[in-house]
Amino acid sequence: MRVAVIGAGPAGLACAITLERLGIRPDVFEKGDHVGYPVPMVQVLMSLSHPGAGDQLSFLRKEFGLALRPLAALSSLVHHCGGTVRQVAGSYGYLMLRGRDEGSVERQLAGRLAAGIHFCHWAEAGALSGAYDYVVVADGSGRTARQAGVWRRRVRALSRGAVILDRFDPGAIDLYFDTAYAGHGYGILTPFDERRAMLSLHLVGREGMDRRWRLFLAREKLVCDVLSRYDLLYAGGTVSRHRIGNILLTGNAGGLVEPLFGLGLFASLVSGVLAARAVAGQGDYEEMLAVYVKRQEQFAAVRTAFNRLDQAGVARVVALLKTPFLGRLLPTGRPDVVSLVQPLLRPGVFKAGGGKACGRP
Ligand SMILES: Cc1cc2nc3c(=O)[nH]c(=O)nc-3n(C[C@H](O)[C@H](O)[C@H](O)COP(=O)(O)OP(=O)(O)OC[C@H]3O[C@@H](n4cnc5c(N)ncnc54)[C@H](O)[C@@H]3O)c2cc1C
Repeated sequence: MRVAVIGAGPAGLACAITLERLGIRPDVFEKGDHVGYPVPMVQVLMSLSHPGAGDQLSFLRKEFGLALRPLAALSSLVHHCGGTVRQVAGSYGYLMLRGRDEGSVERQLAGRLAAGIHFCHWAEAGALSGAYDYVVVADGSGRTARQAGVWRRRVRALSRGAVILDRFDPGAIDLYFDTAYAGHGYGILTPFDERRAMLSLHLVGREGMDRRWRLFLAREKLVCDVLSRYDLLYAGGTVSRHRIGNILLTGNAGGLVEPLFGLGLFASLVSGVLAARAVAGQGDYEEMLAVYVKRQEQFAAVRTAFNRLDQAGVARVVALLKTPFLGRLLPTGRPDVVSLVQPLLRPGVFKAGGGKACGRP
């Protein structure tokens, strides 16, 4: 059987490895000359992504045969909101390295692939679908889905990231919510280790990054040495079908990024494996994906509600995370915390302008 995989990111590599395990040697095409983002990045693999998954790395290993090494276990979340700082401790997931450096998710996966990767090869699903039995699209974009008329855009976002030097707790991330600079996006600090971290600002929409970034640093008193900086545009969407003839859409290309925080690593890995299983005749791709697609819809509903909140509402939602109730449930993914929070975001529950936001620390 001839199978082409477009893209050597998490979804494409997870797919290719699984195909090889199932006795199918794929042709993997990657437009870059290496695996991994050109800039190093720390990403969060959170237990929120899939209810019931519990420990995400064990889940990926046991259910999907993907054993991955994290940078660190995520044991502390520090929320900054309107001048108030709240810290919650627990087992929230993992910090994962992305990019070209040793130990990144892409390098770990690529190291397990027997077949080589065709680097510097820009591939198109339409052009390959006649020559291959299956084409798995894992190119991180909605291009193929748009061309097939199955894509619906959800969000246009802009992220700025800076690698900074200071002293950090490698098991803690800082989350920053303030509509003044982030709108309905957020800032996040994710450490590589004790000395180096990534500071990012993720905006919904693409306006005013320079001004907002300056305000972010000033309001949160983030004075640090910046090693490097980058801006990334992102267009997130959803697809009405994940299979079009012999073309299977995975990862971001299949709209599998949750629309609240933009976390997509877990679903990319899972969808890559499921696409491989479907190609090998082990099940119907759409059916196997259904539980993950449903999850995206739940997050989308929370995102819609979150977008209606003003700073006072955002502050109240963030404050919820510190309550013993949610604090205990969040790390476990059981019961489903997103479903529990969803009704709390109904219009009127956290009314616009309804009272005091956060006190100063
Ligand atoms: C700034 C930022 C921060 C993020 N933080 C997190 C986080 O903390 N946690 C989380 O879970 N998710 C996070 N995400 C989302 C996560 O990165 C994605 O969901 C995930 O990388 C998607 O994997 P993928 O394999 O589908 O696509 P990608 O990782 O985008 O990989 C696609 C690959 O395909 C290649 N390619 C593209 N077009 C072609 C072509 N035509 N031919 C050949 N090759 C091609 C690319 O070069 C790339 O290697 C973040 C995303 C961004 C932008």
